Amino acid sequence: MCSIHEDNQASKKAITANEERFRALVTATSDIVYIMSADWREMKQLDGRNFLEDTNEPLADWIPKYIHVLDQDKVRAAIDEARRETKIFQLEHRVLRADGTIGWTLSRAVPILDEHGNVREWFGAASDITETKRAEELLKRTKELTEQQKRVYETIANNTPDLMYVFGLDYNFIYANEALLTMWGKSWENAIGKSLLENGYEPWHAEMHEREIDHVRATKESIRGEVSFPHAVLGKRVYDYIFTPVINKAGEVEAVAGTTRDITDIKQNEQRKNDFIGMVSHELKTPLTSLTAYLQLMEKNNPEQQNPLTKKILEQSVKQTRRMTNMINGFLNLARLESGKMFIESAPFELHNFLEEIAEETHMLYSQHRFVFPEIKSVIVTGDTGKLAQVVNNLIGNAVKYSNLGSQITISATVEHDELKISVTDEGTGIPQEEISRLFNRFYRGQNNNLIAGFGIGLYVCREIIEAHGGKIWVESIAGKGSTFSFTLPTSK
Ligand code: ADP
Repeated sequence: MCSIHEDNQASKKAITANEERFRALVTATSDIVYIMSADWREMKQLDGRNFLEDTNEPLADWIPKYIHVLDQDKVRAAIDEARRETKIFQLEHRVLRADGTIGWTLSRAVPILDEHGNVREWFGAASDITETKRAEELLKRTKELTEQQKRVYETIANNTPDLMYVFGLDYNFIYANEALLTMWGKSWENAIGKSLLENGYEPWHAEMHEREIDHVRATKESIRGEVSFPHAVLGKRVYDYIFTPVINKAGEVEAVAGTTRDITDIKQNEQRKNDFIGMVSHELKTPLTSLTAYLQLMEKNNPEQQNPLTKKILEQSVKQTRRMTNMINGFLNLARLESGKMFIESAPFELHNFLEEIAEETHMLYSQHRFVFPEIKSVIVTGDTGKLAQVVNNLIGNAVKYSNLGSQITISATVEHDELKISVTDEGTGIPQEEISRLFNRFYRGQNNNLIAGFGIGLYVCREIIEAHGGKIWVESIAGKGSTFSFTLPTSK
């Protein structure tokens, strides 16, 4: 039988051995190491590894010192469970670090039993998992964000009437939105991973898109096109489409995304509008031509017998009908342009005569500006005189419209390096720099000209006529000082 003294000696020895083991463990591991009393009320010791503050004396109030307030209940519950079942305590939880910030640990503690099988104390180790937790947290948030974005994109893509799709580089579809699936009358499973042909496109159509995919891939640039083909339900439709490269991080094209819009109605409306403009202009032109002819006849008929007032009225009437004719010609040209029916009838003509006629008309129409026309030698150029005269008249008309009465308008013409260049310079309002690129667009009107009548088609028609001749048209201008509109035409044709 052992004496009490021997018992004490033995347990002292055991404790010393335990302490030694604890110290060895502390030295061997980089983890935080701790010892808790059997009921976890007291922390006997904790080596915090600079991560947590050390505890060298038994400490009763350890929970508020070490555990983040929001995780305290969780920690207590895990302790209760480990104690109840005398099993390993294991928990990831937030802690208050030695530097006052919040960190994360994975903490494990094992019960140490005495010879009667009762828990004497708990040995614990905790590793710093703050970085892992942060990374996990970030990943979770990124995932949530990605999923949310995916939901947003899917909602957009599936609720637009436009067709949206993505081709892989093997020309097979890797994405198609609801509108496209409906148009095909197919489900996702039946359509994705399939080629254009397999999705019912005619061979010419599939071939065309495949070449366009090649083009986008080679140039890394978007392309736009128009195509008409039959819709499963709606019949023949016109579509406007854009193919855009999807570029990966390495800068390579990894797929080609496309959107297609049904523009049948827009096209039909435009056509109706053009037909209307064309028809009205045409109908107006016939009586106007007769009117002009009658007026000219009257003007020429016995001018000496006319009283000064009648003479003036006749002069003005001829002038106004001429203006109206120019305007109607503009509309007719627009309508012809839009329906692709504007033809250039090129023929050689004498530049000198051409400009003389323009000068005559200009002097007749505009009496309140000073005009300077060029002195030029006889030279033959080729082009559609009627249409070119419209261009020059238009530029002169604009110069008059956008400059003060009494100011000078200079017309110049040069032929150099197989190129004819005609310019019209005014001392008018000029054009703000930011408007210049849009000036030749259809229906574009300057922002500051609300009080000046116009339709914004003159320069558009001019550009189309000049480009149809193989020439160029542009403007140089200083706001407040004046503008020079110039065009060139190749003369060697
Ligand atoms: P419109 O004169 O009917 O508006 P245009 O197509 O002839 O249409 O001209 C487009 C725009 O270009 C005009 O609205 C005007 O702002 C600008 N513009 C054209 N010519 C001149 C000019 N000589 N000086 C200043 N601005 C001009």
